[in-house]
Parts: sequence; structure tokens; C-alpha cells
Amino acid sequence: MNQPTQLPTFDIERIRADFPLLGTQVNDKPLVYLDNAATTQKPRAVIAALVRYYETLNANVHRGVHTLSQRATDEFEGAREAVRGFINAASTREIVFTRGTTEGINLVAQSYGRTFLRAGDEVLIGEAEHHANIVPWQQLRDTHGTVLKVAPINDAGELDLAAFAEQLSPRTKLVAIGQVSNALGTVNPVAEIIRLAHAQGAKVLVDGAQSVGHGPVDVTALDCDFFAFSGHKLFAPTGIGVLYAKAELLEAMPPWQGGGDMIRTVSFEHTEWNELPFKFEAGTPDIAGGIGLKAALDYLAGLDFAAAARHEHDLLQYATARAAEITGLRLIGTAKEKVAVLSFVVAGINSQDLGVLLDSQGVAIRTGHHCAMPVMTRFGVAGTARASFAFYNTREDVDRFFAALAKALEILG
Ligand code: PLP
Repeated sequence: MNQPTQLPTFDIERIRADFPLLGTQVNDKPLVYLDNAATTQKPRAVIAALVRYYETLNANVHRGVHTLSQRATDEFEGAREAVRGFINAASTREIVFTRGTTEGINLVAQSYGRTFLRAGDEVLIGEAEHHANIVPWQQLRDTHGTVLKVAPINDAGELDLAAFAEQLSPRTKLVAIGQVSNALGTVNPVAEIIRLAHAQGAKVLVDGAQSVGHGPVDVTALDCDFFAFSGHKLFAPTGIGVLYAKAELLEAMPPWQGGGDMIRTVSFEHTEWNELPFKFEAGTPDIAGGIGLKAALDYLAGLDFAAAARHEHDLLQYATARAAEITGLRLIGTAKEKVAVLSFVVAGINSQDLGVLLDSQGVAIRTGHHCAMPVMTRFGVAGTARASFAFYNTREDVDRFFAALAKALEILG
């Protein structure tokens, strides 16, 4: 993320007050929200942007000559420019609005994959990927005869970079890798991965779902070919996401969905595609979501993001130290480079039961396989309990989480 020129101080109480849901009660207890890897809470500025859009602007975009339509178009396209700046893309032509990370990856698999990958070509992913970055490549394999290869992780949940490099070859046409694992919190060395992959002539898709909310992303510096993320994990509404792709790739790729907005001319004999990025945006987009996403990016630009990242790091360190005090607790994911996720199991205890008992005490965590079943298999567990942090969490949240956990373990133990 680009740093604002003047950094305000990181005032956690002021920040928490910006998120109305954090001040509410769940099950008659003050909410402790630790399910940020699933989705983040929204600041008032984002909620207000949605209300303002529907109360004062609502109209369809790109097609109308009337004032409201033009205003809505200006704001929606303004959001695209904000996204471009946020990830430092060269042009708004490279910013495709999607429903989220899942849709972005499917777009690449179906458009780029089906067009440019041949039977026997290899797609290389990591063992810790989210299902969204596994299943589309399996579908491509099943319809087009491509080969899906998987680079292993070690016992800490880190990608085995040597094994990854060994699996790369001129047959590798695409590497698809998460920048941060949602199940483990591992930060992958994507710059190095991209360098290695490009040296073999492979394109690289980065799944940025879990990274964008925790630190700056610069797609130009990374030199990735594709970068997908979801607004809702970045303090923006659900239903809006982004696929960044290099313009030359988008130019060469065919549209994956047909309909309004993605065409320039249509006759029954022939249809001419619209220019970038609209070629990939068939139908009415999530206009309010785009405007809400811009409001979220504006909000983040007003934060000292470096201080926010330090604060999150402190929370993770603190929570990790406290977890070490609990008999029978095993952390799943102990990578040296890690953000925002404390995934664990407790011997003899069902994670689901833990989640329910924590919820009864107002503490929201995630339990289960976290849409990363192969990771669970790798660690020999059916699922984990996962507390995941955002910059608005506090040490007090962590203390309340561990107090609730101790109580739950007493009941279950
Ligand atoms: N990739 C990762 C690493 C994720 O954590 C998630 C969601 O949890 C996704 C992809 C899918 O995101 P979405 O459901 O917003 O499309």
C-alpha cells in the first residue's frame, strides 16, 4: 500500500470507534472479533459510502447519458483508479472488478488457462493453498489435460522453496500461489517465487486474499502476472473484488463471460469485444461495492499502515506466547514469516466444540478446515481452531480470548 505523505499516529481506541460492530454485544457479552481471515469488519466510512450511493447516486453505469448514470460511472471508475494506486498497477486497464478472489482465479483458469495451456502443460501450486486456488486448476486439468503439481510445505507450514524450484521446468506454464496462507498465516516469499518462475518462462498468479489487509502490495515491483483479492477481507463490502493482470495478457485473453458491457458491437453474425478492462466485466457490476471499496482504501490511506502492521505483529507474538502456556495446545503453522493467524488444536478436544463455547462468551473465532483441506491432511488433523487478527484488535481481545478458551477447556476437559 502507498503510504500517505503525513502519517497520523496509530490510535487504537479511535480506530475501534470507527468500526460500529466492534462495540456491540454477542450472546450478551462484548464482542471479541477474531475471525478477520474470513472477513473483516467495516468502518463507518464504508457503510456511509453504501448508504450515500443508494440514497443519492443509484443508477446503472457506463450506459446512461443522464446525470445520475454519469455520476455513478465517475465514482465507479474513480474506485478503479483508487485500486490501481493501492496496488501500484500501471493502468486502470489492468484492474478488472470481480466478485472476489475466487472469481478472479476462475477467470484466469477459464480464460487464460483454456486458451494458452495445452495438454501436458504444468500448473504449479503450493500445498497450503485455499480451495479457491486448487479447484479451478483441477477443473482445467480435467477438461484440458494440464498437469497439476504441488510444491510441499515443511512442518512449520513454510513452502519448501528448494522443492518448489525443483518442480519448476519449461513445462511449467503457470504458478499460482497464495501470498499469505489463510489456514496457517505463513507469508510466502512471492518475489523470489516470481523470479524463479519467470526464469522458466512461467506466468505467476498471486492469491492476495490474505495479504492485502496486512501490508503494502506493489504489483509492479513484484512483477506478478496476475494478482487477485477480495474487498471484504480489506474492510470493504462483500461482492466486490479485483483481478489485476498485465495489460498484454488481458489483451490476448478472450472474455470468459458474455453479455452487456463487455461488447463494442453485436450482430447475430459477429460480436466485437469492448476495450480493457470492460471485456472481462459482463453485466451490471457491483457499483455500490466498488464505491465502498474506494471508501475502504481511503480509510486505510488515513492510517499509519506500518504502525498497524507492527501492532498486528505484537498481537500475534503475544497470542503465540500465551498459547505456549496451555497444556496440550499444538500450534498448526509456526512459520518464521507469519501474519495475523493463530491456528491450533488441543489434544482430545474437538475444535468445533471449542468454537461454540467461545461464541457463547462473545468470542468469534473460526473452526474447521478453513477451505484448505490438504493443509489439514498435511498436519494430520480434521480441522483447527483459528483466531485471526486485524489492526483493530487489542491485547485485551487476546486476553479475553484466552480467558474464554480456559473456561471452554475446563468444561470440555
Ligand atoms: N484465497 C485465500 C487465501 C483465502 O483466504 C480466501 C478466503 O478465505 C480465498 C482465496 C477466497 O476468497 P473469496 O471467498 O472472497 O473469493
